[in-house]
Amino acid sequence: MNAPESLPVEFPVFDNSFAALPEAFYTRLEPHPLPEPYVVGVSTEVADLLGLPAELMHSPQFAEIFAGNRLLPGSEPLAAVYSGHQFGVWAGQLGDGRAHLLGGLRNDQGHWEIQLKGAGRTPYSRGADGRAVLRSSIREFLCSEAMAGLGVPTTRALCVIGADQPVRREEIETAAVVARVAPGFVRFGSFEHWASRDRSRELQQLADYVIDTFRPECRDAENPYDALLRDVSRRTGELIAHWMAVGFMHGVMNTDNMSILGLTLDYGPFGFMEAFDAGHICNHSDHQGRYTYRNQPHVAQWNLYCLADAFLPLLKHPDVSRAAVDETYGDAFAQTFERLMCAKLGLRHALPDDENFIGETFGFLQQHRPDFTLFFRRLSRLSGGLDGEAMAKADAPLRDLFVDRAACDAWLANWRARLAQTPWDDGERQASMLAANPKYVLRNWLAEAAIRKAKLKDYSGVQRLLTCLRRPYDEQPEFDDLAALPPDWASGLEVSCSS
Ligand code: AMP
Ligand code: MG
Repeated sequence: MNAPESLPVEFPVFDNSFAALPEAFYTRLEPHPLPEPYVVGVSTEVADLLGLPAELMHSPQFAEIFAGNRLLPGSEPLAAVYSGHQFGVWAGQLGDGRAHLLGGLRNDQGHWEIQLKGAGRTPYSRGADGRAVLRSSIREFLCSEAMAGLGVPTTRALCVIGADQPVRREEIETAAVVARVAPGFVRFGSFEHWASRDRSRELQQLADYVIDTFRPECRDAENPYDALLRDVSRRTGELIAHWMAVGFMHGVMNTDNMSILGLTLDYGPFGFMEAFDAGHICNHSDHQGRYTYRNQPHVAQWNLYCLADAFLPLLKHPDVSRAAVDETYGDAFAQTFERLMCAKLGLRHALPDDENFIGETFGFLQQHRPDFTLFFRRLSRLSGGLDGEAMAKADAPLRDLFVDRAACDAWLANWRARLAQTPWDDGERQASMLAANPKYVLRNWLAEAAIRKAKLKDYSGVQRLLTCLRRPYDEQPEFDDLAALPPDWASGLEVSCSS
């Protein structure tokens, strides 16, 4: 490991709050260097969040630092331990098998932890190689930033660093490291770990750490741990509602991939809904279809019950832990989902019957399977007027998404009747809908096209997608090609847990 003294600039100061926990929570170790690393993609937005000096961004040491070859001053790298339920089954101890937390830093924009994913083996690697491949690292990098652009709570990604070092998966690929950034990386499984071992002391230390670092307001509650559980439950409900509204499918909602801060965490075989099918399975390794689009709200609740069970020793009353979830999660999900769907549909304010209208809309999408993103984007431009030739012409782009145009017309008539119940100026409504219905999402075929170029060492596709997805609600005509339906070559694309 190279000494940090020769860094060209001053780096923000680390405060490393997680490393202040007792050693039982992690193993201190340095990342394993990657030979001759190079920059594949950088998010300048995240660099700004961290307050990284511009000189560092352009220095040849940038790739060295975020490949894990060179430590930043003040960094105390470690891999954290956690456990979890995978695909509904208790999996025992897992942990950061290929992630190194470099440390945390605090600035006027908040507290940020930087984690390198793919920086080599740790005591939690369970026989695996500790590496990540270029393909999955680009996907995680782009999707983290795409979700942030969409306004969905998520961990961020500063950069992807590549290297020519071979990594064996189904075939030989090359290694890469993603530098992830978030206020914290504590998972539901971090709590399950201690509960499963009857280690109440550590359980409480972890809960105290989360409260003191991220949720100090919970201290004022009668039982701060109950308040924390309710906070996680509420935020998770809001998070899943956001996922559903943008058509995001996580693909591996195991409890070790659920953030205690309510952030989207661990991008693997995720997908964005294209031709609408609520039963779509985006993860080729999910043989039972546990993590379909439609199951996500139930699975999140199941995961919260696992967390609630882990909280039992902190709550003293066995009957209150799942109640904390029941009293918060469903309402948070339903309210956020209704709010987001009203915005997507251009409903100025909610009416009592909207739950039915939204349900009917999903039934209609399920039956006719239009592209989810294009449907809402094109809907945003339609007039609310009830008839006329001009309107029929304006409806054409939306009708083009349907084989059964009459069914589309029938739904549009219902939609317009509903709009009429809460009158709203067309221009204002359209502007509001365009701000709620993205033009651009990270479709699998877009990521795949950028990855294919990147494998040939052309990273322009990655950077172009990043630039576009930062402002997914803006028209950006120069990126029109990135809003298109998947091309024929993409019809057989499959994404699995292999990463
Ligand atoms: P994931 O399915 O990516 O959430 O990973 C589940 C667990 O497997 C976590 O503990 C990861 O750290 C670990 N893991 C996944 N891939 C690797 C790898 N290539 N090397 C070491 N650990 C891994
Ligand atoms: Mg994971």
